[in-house]
Amino acid sequence: MITKFIKRILRRDPMIKHTQANHTGAPKRIPKKSHRIDPNLLSKNAVKVTHTLQQAGYEAFIVGGAVRDLALGISPKDFDVATNATPDQVQRLFRKARLIGRRFQIVHVTFFGKGHPEIIEVSTFRGLLENAGDHVAESGRILRDNVWGSQGEDAARRDFTINAMYYDPSSETVLDYHGGMADMQKKTLRMIDDPAKRYREDPVRMLRAVRFSAKTGFELDPATREPIAKLGTLLNDVPPARLFDELLKLLMSGYSWAAIQALQKAGLHHGLLPLLDHIVDGGEDSKGANNFVKLALAHIDDRIQSGKSVSAGFLFATLLWPDLLKNWKANSSKGMANIPALQDAMDDTIATQSSGMTIQRRFESDMREIWSMQPRFERRVGRYPYRLIESPRFRAGYDFMLLRCTTTGELNPAIGQWWTNFIAADPAGQNELMASAKNESDNSPSPAKRQRRRKPKSTFPPESEAG
Ligand code: ATP
Ligand code: MG
Repeated sequence: MITKFIKRILRRDPMIKHTQANHTGAPKRIPKKSHRIDPNLLSKNAVKVTHTLQQAGYEAFIVGGAVRDLALGISPKDFDVATNATPDQVQRLFRKARLIGRRFQIVHVTFFGKGHPEIIEVSTFRGLLENAGDHVAESGRILRDNVWGSQGEDAARRDFTINAMYYDPSSETVLDYHGGMADMQKKTLRMIDDPAKRYREDPVRMLRAVRFSAKTGFELDPATREPIAKLGTLLNDVPPARLFDELLKLLMSGYSWAAIQALQKAGLHHGLLPLLDHIVDGGEDSKGANNFVKLALAHIDDRIQSGKSVSAGFLFATLLWPDLLKNWKANSSKGMANIPALQDAMDDTIATQSSGMTIQRRFESDMREIWSMQPRFERRVGRYPYRLIESPRFRAGYDFMLLRCTTTGELNPAIGQWWTNFIAADPAGQNELMASAKNESDNSPSPAKRQRRRKPKSTFPPESEAG
C-alpha cells in the first residue's frame, strides 16, 4: 500500500498532482527570448555564488524579489540565491560565509569590492510545514521553519507568484512554478495558495502585499485583496520588531507615499504608528502636517529612486516633525525658553510615537540631532554658521531644513537659499553673506528680533507652521 503510494507520487499521478499541484508541479521553463532579463543588471557576485554552487554539483538560482525586479527591467537592490545545498555545505564553499538566524537559517556570503561590501543571501530550499504541527501556533502563524525541501516546495512557501520565480544565470532560464510571469504581464499581485490561510500563517504578508503593489503599481488580485479587511487585526500579534522592520521597508521602498495611501485603502494603517493614523485620518486639522509629510516623503522617494541613501533617522525626523512643532509651540506658549521647549517637545513626541514600537529608539539619536540643529540654521552671524557646518550630521540637518523651506510658511525659503549659497561660497563670499544676514536682522523692525540682536536667540517655533 505504502509502496504503491510512493510510486504514485514518483510517477506524479494526476490525482496526487491535483491536490499537490502547488507543491510539486513542474515549473514552466521560460527562455531568454520570453523573459528578456538583461544580464547586465545581474550582480556579478550573485552569479559567482550560483556558479560556485553549481560547479560543486548543487542546484542554485537567483530567486525572489531580484527575479521580479529583473523581469521588470529594474536593477535589484539585493540578490538572494536559493539552493539545494544545506547551509553547512554552502558555508564550506565560500571564504567569507556566515550562518545567520535561527528561525530561517541562511548563509551570508560577503564580497568586498570597491564600494560597499555586497552580501548575497543564500538559503536552502525549504519544505512545507503541513505536517509539522509544533511549528505552527494556534492562530496558524509559523513559528520556526528549518525544514529543507524541494525547489517546488520552496516555491510554494513564497508569498506572491511574482516572488516565486528562479533564474539560472548559466542557462539564462527562468523557472516559474506559479504563473508569476503571466501575472507580471497582467500586472497582478497574486498570493500563492489560499490567501486567507497564508495571511494567517504570517500576517506581515498583508503589509508586503501593500508594499509590492505600491512599488510595482500592480493591482492586488481580488482574492488576494479581499481577506485583508477582515484579517488586518492579526498584525497585532506580530512581534513589534518584525512589524517595524516591514514598515521601514515600506517607507524606504522609494514609493512611500503611494504605500501609505495603499495602507489606508486596505485599512491597515491603524496601530502601526500613531503617526500614520494622524496623517491618514486627520482631516482638515492635519492638512498642513500632511503637506509637509507628503513633500518630505516625495523627496525621500526621489532620493531612493535615484540610488541615494536616506537614513531611517531622517525619515522619522520628517514624519514626526509636524507633531514636534505642535508640541514645541505649545511649550513656548506656556512660557518655556526656546531650547528647553524644543528638548521637552522632542521627548514628548518620541514617547508618544514609539509606544508599541520601542525599536524606533535605534534611530532616536539621529532624529534628535537633526531636530536640534534646526534653530541653529537661523543664527547666521559670527561663528555660528561655521560651527554648524562642522556638525557630523550637518548634511542631514541641512536637507531637512531645505524641506521645511519648501512647505508653505514653515521656514522662509530665503534662509534655505542663504545656506545653499554659504556652503558653496569661498571665505570672502561667506563673509559677505554673513554681513547681509546681519543687515537683514538689523533692519528688522520687529521687537523680537531687536531683542535677539542683543542676545542671539532663535525665533523658533515660527508663527505659521505645518501642524
Ligand atoms: P525587496 O525588493 O523589498 O527586497 P523581496 O521580494 O526581495 O523584495 P524580501 O523580504 O527580500 O523581499 O524576501 C525575499 C523573498 O523571500 C521574497 O521575494 C519571497 O519570495 C520570500 N519571502 C519573504 N518574506 C516572505 C513571507 N513573509 N512569506 C513568504 N515568502 C516570503
Ligand atoms: Mg530582497
